[in-house]
Amino acid sequence: MSDPSWDEEAEVVVLGGGGAGLRAALAAAEAGASTLLLEKMPALGGKTQMSIGIMTASGTSVQKCAGLKDSHARHLADIMAMGEKAGVTIDVPATKFMIQECSKEIDTLVGLGLEFSGPHPEGPHGMPRVHVIQPDCRRLVALLIEACEKSGARLETGVAGGDLILDHKGQIAGVQAGDKRIRAHAVVLAAGDYSANHAFVAQVAPKAGLAEPIRDFATGDGHRMAMRIGARTRNMQQVNTPHLRFKEWPFVEPSPGLINAGAVLVTGTGERVKTELGQSIELPDFEDRAADFYIVIDQATAENLAKSSDDHGPGRDGWALTGKPFIGTAPRVGYAYLEDCNAWDWHAETDSLEGAAKQIGCTATSLRTAMGSTPNGALHILGPMRRVLANSGGGLSTNQRMNVLSEDGPPIRGLYGAGVNARLISFMGGHGYALAWAMASGRIAGQQAATYSKKI
Ligand SMILES: Cc1cc2nc3c(=O)[nH]c(=O)nc-3n(C[C@H](O)[C@H](O)[C@H](O)COP(=O)(O)OP(=O)(O)OC[C@H]3O[C@@H](n4cnc5c(N)ncnc54)[C@H](O)[C@@H]3O)c2cc1C
Repeated sequence: MSDPSWDEEAEVVVLGGGGAGLRAALAAAEAGASTLLLEKMPALGGKTQMSIGIMTASGTSVQKCAGLKDSHARHLADIMAMGEKAGVTIDVPATKFMIQECSKEIDTLVGLGLEFSGPHPEGPHGMPRVHVIQPDCRRLVALLIEACEKSGARLETGVAGGDLILDHKGQIAGVQAGDKRIRAHAVVLAAGDYSANHAFVAQVAPKAGLAEPIRDFATGDGHRMAMRIGARTRNMQQVNTPHLRFKEWPFVEPSPGLINAGAVLVTGTGERVKTELGQSIELPDFEDRAADFYIVIDQATAENLAKSSDDHGPGRDGWALTGKPFIGTAPRVGYAYLEDCNAWDWHAETDSLEGAAKQIGCTATSLRTAMGSTPNGALHILGPMRRVLANSGGGLSTNQRMNVLSEDGPPIRGLYGAGVNARLISFMGGHGYALAWAMASGRIAGQQAATYSKKI
């Protein structure tokens, strides 16, 4: 180290070791930059590791293998229609760019050895575009770590990036991490979202409903670091509506159709909760209670749910063909049916009300009251679930090079953003873009940071 005021040096420093950060570190190292990734937690993976693994894309090799002819133009037309319905204006050039880059990324990941199930159908999309990582997102993280290590990127865990250091011209010079000053030509912020920082949410999104965060590490460090040096932000008021998710792997959100099909939602004391599931869930009586919830499905309700015998393929489409509900979007299969739940610890089957009550931890009397009568046949108990905030949606405003923009307009030289730390557009509609864009934006940010680092 020639300059003693620095403790360490790398051409590109990446903050955050979830999917976007690992993808950025890989791209930067492959582009020839000395690369150091800092992850504040003891292990890499972030929320990417716990994600369902849905990536939405068009014109991919996976679609072609399934005999589907799709195009980016049809995909864009579907998003435009969703935007019109939602009353939002679509940024056409940026949306086209995202569609193209997310699709390219699926094929790049296939090249890296990742496999997908599907494509599966999804809501307003005119074609099946849901690609699901096999067997789940932990494989994606493991592949990225392996590829980063092969490409020479250094990955350090248990080190939190604290502040950005600027030079006298106002361009990025390095990062403060604990008591270490790390010199960097370019920095990629990939530190995830801010749903666990309630004080920050109250400041940027005062109308957002709060709940327990699904993970405590999502404290918006990357957002705050960049905002402190004058970065522009986009959609910061957008925070996921609190909703129910299973507490243990896989962290599935139960499908809204289950209650209408006859499933009963109860608390851990067997108290019935009458509510809708899904994004609209408000649970007004439970906002301040860190309560566990369970779904009870009796034999008659189970008959109303989609089954694998309803599927025609190529993906899981029985629920769409029959209009019957599925349990929730889930790793491996895309859309889980009751028969898939046997594989997971949050599912239990019993043939008595007493057995179900024991599983929940309540009395048989309270469960009978909640169910309205003593049910006949097998009972399925799904839970515990918690009411959580899974993500926040706002990010640092970037251009298509993932260069973070300043409040005044021009890009901040040397500063890049990726994943949910950054935001190129406001609306895509549907599932599966957060992960696809985490990968694609990570690749672009890493490549661009490496190119910039060689120029200065
Ligand atoms: C249960 C669940 C299921 C989901 N399923 C899907 C899905 O199927 N499809 C989809 O598109 N999206 C899904 N999402 C959303 C998607 O997973 C995330 O948006 C995406 O993975 C974010 O990737 P990221 O790299 O930006 O953030 P993360 O993966 O969260 O990584 C951020 C990392 O930065 C680290 N960090 C934070 N601060 C610092 C700091 N100061 N210094 C160093 N490191 C720091 C964190 O510890 C973390 O490891 C899901 C989310 C959840 C919670």
